Amino acid sequence: MPPSEPVELRSDTFTRPTPGMRAAIAAADVGDDMVGEDPTVNALEARMAALLGKDAAVFACSGTQSNQMAVWAQCSSGDELLIEATGHIANYEAGGPAALSGVSVRRIPGDRGRLDVPQADGHIRGGNVHFAPTRLLCVENSTNLGGGATYPLAQLERLSAWARSAGLRVHMDGARLFNACIARGYAASEVVRPVDTVSICFSKGLGCPMGSILAGDAATIDRARRARKLFGGALRQAGIVAAACLYALDHHVERLADDHAHARLFAEGIAGLPGVAIRPDDVETNLVFFEIAPEFGTAADLSAALLERGVKLNPAGGPQRLRACTHLDVGREGVLRAVEAIRDCLARPDASRPSRSPAGTYSH
Ligand SMILES: *Cc1c(COP(=O)(O)O)cnc(C)c1O
Repeated sequence: MPPSEPVELRSDTFTRPTPGMRAAIAAADVGDDMVGEDPTVNALEARMAALLGKDAAVFACSGTQSNQMAVWAQCSSGDELLIEATGHIANYEAGGPAALSGVSVRRIPGDRGRLDVPQADGHIRGGNVHFAPTRLLCVENSTNLGGGATYPLAQLERLSAWARSAGLRVHMDGARLFNACIARGYAASEVVRPVDTVSICFSKGLGCPMGSILAGDAATIDRARRARKLFGGALRQAGIVAAACLYALDHHVERLADDHAHARLFAEGIAGLPGVAIRPDDVETNLVFFEIAPEFGTAADLSAALLERGVKLNPAGGPQRLRACTHLDVGREGVLRAVEAIRDCLARPDASRPSRSPAGTYSH
């Protein structure tokens, strides 16, 4: 990256297709996917089903769409789902469960976006006319607002066994599943064995322009295909996008380890700075959340001051909290430049208090 280009740490959704990915897109063999005749989509769905050890998979436009398809396919109107309080499905999907499926959401505080049995236990309802029957448990892996944390396999197995023994289905929001796998050295099929359905985003660290997969048992994926049509997400020559996803599976999975190393480098770089609260040991994947002491201004102030220094980094999840996200368009040099920019802002009392504030505090 030339030094003049800003360091983009707002999200891994800002990645742009590489020349190799663009070539794969240009060469894609396509057909009408709505009638199942796009060979590239079919190849991606088959490959993902095999990779995840599930019967079937369906291609979707976005992670939000595949999550909402999973809710629709596994719940009825009037049901309730359980999710950790910071979960994307509960907080960042425009009220989808209620609007699209008539499902209410019960948020349970957990640990950095993760749930375990003691926290979830006691929240299942049903068997009484007053209650919305609990039908689905949603888990996020890796977590987003939870700080990029990942589930140990034993915890997932325990939580899923608990849910299933109460008759619930289990959905994993695996928008960054491959980050979780790389961080813990697990195979994807191993991580998703305890869950019924799993969604994956190709537009985050995998570097694709768009695309998501929902995988699960054949009957549920059939229902999810109907939801996809209902939600306006059944496409025609979608192989144009699926080709990018296949390319990403070949070239952009193992390299996620670099993003994790860069996130760690960033966290360790800012850990000693005045006014910064962070625990570098909590950084497991490509997300780094940190807080700024109020005497150094707000998160929005720091974000705006950094923008003036060519570093893009958003406030996230609170007035003093920010999130940095590493990805394939940020190298070691960019990370070090971001650390120096933060050092510069905090070294000068007024530097992180510009007159204007950036818009928006949501980080995908
Ligand atoms: C990004 C993300 C999604 C999907 O978001 P889209 O904007 O629809 O791609 C879902 N869950 C989590 C945890 C995410 O971080």
